[in-house]
Amino acid sequence: MNEVFEFFPIFHVAFPLLIFELPLIKRKYEFNRFALIVGSLLPDIVDKPLLFMNLGSGRGISHTILFILISFMILHLIVKKKMNISVPFLLGMAFHLLLDLPEVPLFYPFIEYEYILIEDPFELWLNNLFNNPIVYLTEIAGFLILIFILINNRLFNSKDIINFLKRNTDLVTR
Ligand SMILES: [Zn+2]
Repeated sequence: MNEVFEFFPIFHVAFPLLIFELPLIKRKYEFNRFALIVGSLLPDIVDKPLLFMNLGSGRGISHTILFILISFMILHLIVKKKMNISVPFLLGMAFHLLLDLPEVPLFYPFIEYEYILIEDPFELWLNNLFNNPIVYLTEIAGFLILIFILINNRLFNSKDIINFLKRNTDLVTR
């Protein structure tokens, strides 16, 4: 099996978290990292199960600009317009689509896209995870980024980690 099946759950979480480690962002904005993480995984949470059930391509309905805008607006209303939750959620989803490029049906349903149908997606994913260097090296990089973030923020117990995910403790208030 030589088909490529690129699916990077760890990297999808690690990359946006790393961007939010930038001092410029970290010191300036209040944000909730739970929302960022959920956003950065949501397109795959919706599309990958559809793929595994043979109901979609794995990059279908939730890998579109329309989907991320609608989800953003729904969450924005649910959290009573708290931007520190809804904006990281939107950015998480945007980073996800960016990392999945170029095979992303961004403008679906306004533009039709053709998909390569995969017969046994689960087997193909496992095969790629262990045999495709792009896939496993990216996931290893994601894992190392997460370790770096834990050490960089001295997150050595679950209480500190939860606190770190809930609010931006490095915010400089003036
Ligand atoms: Zn994806």
